[in-house]
Amino acid sequence: MWEDNVRRVVPYTPGEQPKIQNLIKLNTNENPYPPSPKVYEALKNFDAGVLKKYPDPTVSMLAGAIAKAYSRDISETFVGVGSDDVLAMAFLTFFNSDKPILFPDITYSFYDVWAELFKIPYKRIPLNEDFTINKEDYFVENGGIVLANPNAPTGVELPYNEVEEIIAKNHDSVVIVDEAYIDFGGRSVIDLIDKYDNLLIVRTYSKSRAAAGLRVGYAFSNKKMISYLQDVKYSFNSYTMNTPSIVLGTAAVEDKAYFEEIKDKVIKTREWTKEELKKLDFSFADSHTNFIFAKYNGNMKRDDIVKALRDRSILVRSFNGERVKDYIRISIGTDEEMKIVIDALKEILK
Ligand code: PMP
Repeated sequence: MWEDNVRRVVPYTPGEQPKIQNLIKLNTNENPYPPSPKVYEALKNFDAGVLKKYPDPTVSMLAGAIAKAYSRDISETFVGVGSDDVLAMAFLTFFNSDKPILFPDITYSFYDVWAELFKIPYKRIPLNEDFTINKEDYFVENGGIVLANPNAPTGVELPYNEVEEIIAKNHDSVVIVDEAYIDFGGRSVIDLIDKYDNLLIVRTYSKSRAAAGLRVGYAFSNKKMISYLQDVKYSFNSYTMNTPSIVLGTAAVEDKAYFEEIKDKVIKTREWTKEELKKLDFSFADSHTNFIFAKYNGNMKRDDIVKALRDRSILVRSFNGERVKDYIRISIGTDEEMKIVIDALKEILK
């Protein structure tokens, strides 16, 4: 009988993290470059002796460094175990209404999982045919809004002015803008925190900072919203961030020059990859992220292409929804990796 009282959920399915070495791994939008040399240095100098103590529950060193890097105050900054943790806490804190929260039908597939887990009513709003957002769809009564911008897995960016309109028209609910991919050429709405009191921006180390394994995510908002978020976090687990992540995460965010360098490299490789994919008869919405969500216009089926790539040790991601079943999401690797991918596709599709 106890099974009647179990909280049953259908969990999020993360991209595969294979044990096999020497794969070209383009399935989870990781950065192909290593973390900053400053992270290596901090790791070398890390004193394991400090692990006998609990970490600082306020995470002040890391939160302070992140706040400084973006010219915000530490009281406007929240840090969590990857942006998944930050988003989960944000859903729990800000989406507490009987009205449905809104997000696109094609977006980060963790949003509906959290909504189900926390029993938050939700409504998926269909994207336009070209995967753009129709902003008017979000000018209706709701219990909150969450938008990945640029969106995942489509790569499409909603222009700054339209994000602002959505925030402005929804002053009675919180708008979460998930900027996981913003550093690869998108325009952040971070400055709108000073103009509107209902905006939370969520970011991650996992993509542009080349540190997915550190598990660091963060959020910016006004002081009041951040304090509500902290209250929920402290009601759940005081010590979410482990000491090594606090120390190494601080070193990572302090290295602005390296961050700029690898981000620019990824953007350059992405632009080259776009041109090559076009020549091979793929079509895709223009991406401002570290991945391209592409559809092959020729005869070969999507799953056959994915399998043929896998047979050549190249891992990409695909999704099963009706509107995305023909698409392949290819994360941007190094120049060398992308050349191998393009050569493999030429061979597969000939
Ligand atoms: N938001 C979006 C849109 C993502 O694609 C991802 C990556 N899976 C995340 C958040 C979570 O990233 P992380 O928990 O590694 O910060």
